[in-house]
Amino acid sequence: MATTAVPSIVKNLSRNNILDFMASGEAESWSPQEILSWAVENFAPRMALSCSFGAREGMVLLDMYQRIDPAARVFSLDTGRIPQQTYDLMDRVRDRYHIPVEVVFPRAEDVEAMVRVEGMNLFYESIEKRQRCCRIRKVEPLSRYLAGLDAWVSGLRRDQNVTRAETPKIEIDASHGGIVKLNPLADWSEERVVEYVREHNIPVNRLHGEGYPSVGCAPCSRAIAPGDDPRSGRWWWENPETRECGIHVDEEDQGSGI
Ligand code: SF4
Repeated sequence: MATTAVPSIVKNLSRNNILDFMASGEAESWSPQEILSWAVENFAPRMALSCSFGAREGMVLLDMYQRIDPAARVFSLDTGRIPQQTYDLMDRVRDRYHIPVEVVFPRAEDVEAMVRVEGMNLFYESIEKRQRCCRIRKVEPLSRYLAGLDAWVSGLRRDQNVTRAETPKIEIDASHGGIVKLNPLADWSEERVVEYVREHNIPVNRLHGEGYPSVGCAPCSRAIAPGDDPRSGRWWWENPETRECGIHVDEEDQGSGI
């Protein structure tokens, strides 16, 4: 199954030993493929890649992951507000890689109650309302999905935002039941991601070519000028410190009270 050699010393760790292994910092020197291979050996099929289809990082990991494990599991959150270009990319991935995408939706009753009281575009009114929308459309569906996994893979990189500067390659996700969270691209630069996409001719979201380095929900994403902070097109009306949806931040740090 694996095409990348996994250091034998860390194969098939018991759950108790995972903490010691992470504390050793050994994985920090590993390539993304080594991280993924290690994870497949230890967690598949109870692991999955979180792919928004709105960032090159997720597509790079999807490409690497399915080369290592043809049964790779990929999931995506459909908030109900994502652009058509993102749906188009999901179907292009199905055609090219022949893997199903597990699409996770928010609870309809929660969305209905929110928009009935606060309107369709509440997120522009305050940070609290924006975080409430993210919580209902993203955070709850993610938590519900992750409850069935032992590990998940994200495309976080340290230089994406001030909130991500300390991202480790392997961590325990205390916000989601203590499962393992893998960030194989933590030490990659934007340039390295773009180069991998080019080298392997990986399909990406067409909005990247229209000035969107990062595509999320349509009303909360916009194009940026060349040279601007790549994350500045997301929730642009907020300060950089608050520009997270709650998926990748500790709930207490976020202050969302989730
Ligand atoms: Fe709501 Fe915007 Fe968050 Fe999407 S990104 S869930 S539309 S606040």
